[in-house]
Amino acid sequence: MAKKCGGCEFQGMPYAEQLKHKEKRVRILLDSFGKVHPIIGMKDPYHYRNKVHAVFDRDRRGNAISGVYQKGTHKVVPVDSCMIEDQKADKIIVTIRGLLKSFKIKTYDEDTQYGLLRHVLIRRGFSTGEIMVVLVTASPVFPSKNNFVKALRKVHPEITTVVQNINDRGTSMVLGTRDVVLYGKGFIEDKLCGCTFRISAQSFYQVNPVQTEKLYGLALEYADLKGDETVWDLYCGIGTISLFLAQKAKQVYGVEIVPQAIDDAKENAKINAIDNAEFFVGKAEEVLPEYYAEYEREHNGETAHADVIVVDPPRKGCDETLLETIVKMQPEKVVYVSCDSATLARDLKYLCANGYEIKMCRGVDQFPQSVHVETCVLLSKLGQ
Ligand code: SAH
Repeated sequence: MAKKCGGCEFQGMPYAEQLKHKEKRVRILLDSFGKVHPIIGMKDPYHYRNKVHAVFDRDRRGNAISGVYQKGTHKVVPVDSCMIEDQKADKIIVTIRGLLKSFKIKTYDEDTQYGLLRHVLIRRGFSTGEIMVVLVTASPVFPSKNNFVKALRKVHPEITTVVQNINDRGTSMVLGTRDVVLYGKGFIEDKLCGCTFRISAQSFYQVNPVQTEKLYGLALEYADLKGDETVWDLYCGIGTISLFLAQKAKQVYGVEIVPQAIDDAKENAKINAIDNAEFFVGKAEEVLPEYYAEYEREHNGETAHADVIVVDPPRKGCDETLLETIVKMQPEKVVYVSCDSATLARDLKYLCANGYEIKMCRGVDQFPQSVHVETCVLLSKLGQ
């Protein structure tokens, strides 16, 4: 299965060896910059994914299949269970597939654009047990949807919310922009490091909650806040890192491109009684430079300053405009959380050529069995 799906490149390699490989990668990349600490591994490196995504299609005989795209293609490899996915989520997907025929629901065909069900996304709050099912459909018309949800919940009463997401676009994006809540509250809650977080269908949430607590712990340790700092958390998602930082800083500003995630972040601040975190919707590379320019205008040329800036970008890393503004704001520390070592190296090169040096870094294995490695880096102003 691993060979066909292409997702778990390290499957079959003993876990200790996988960790060695990943640590070596971080060392090759960063050793010349500064001290690399040993990678933080996972005790039980299986079934860790709290989010499971299945593409729906038909086989040659017209039977519904569900699984993942084969790496680099749009061919669906059927998957009923997977060694890294949450087992409950896998079972729900199999149930959904089994219900399609009796409800006369056709799976969507990318070539002919005929059919209804495109994808199913499942998210489970590992510490709360709450489960969200997102049914991604090609059209808003979903005949007998209420009975479908009823039948699904009859088999899996543990499902706490069901959302229909409408994706009528011809792109490879999984989710469209419109959500219709079919059952429950439309989001789940989960707990991380003692805080409660609301997570909506469109919002990003780390897929390996066990390791996420370690990753956030490291980011917080690197930030080393004393209580009087102004901190920016760029690419903040639902405000997870922001709210942990806020408990130790004077003021935190979070920036995130997905509006629903910012709604969650604001709600999450309220749920956790945190009143020193403010959130902005937009691209980090636009919001921060605009804030900087506006501050300068309003304060007679005085420039905006931050004590600590945390970035946690997607794989493509940070835009250079953003790095430029970060440097202008002269934070004492920059904490860079990265899920892609190539763009991390590019961005560190920029920061190191512009007055910063790497003080510490460490990998955290967020994705056992795969080649991906998450890295947390602490930079500080040269000479400090
Ligand atoms: N720090 C968060 C999210 C990290 S994932 C957490 O740990 O949960 C990266 C986030 O960046 C995603 O939520 C994504 O929606 C957001 N994002 C992607 N491009 C962005 C951009 N240009 N500006 C701001 N946010 C962006």
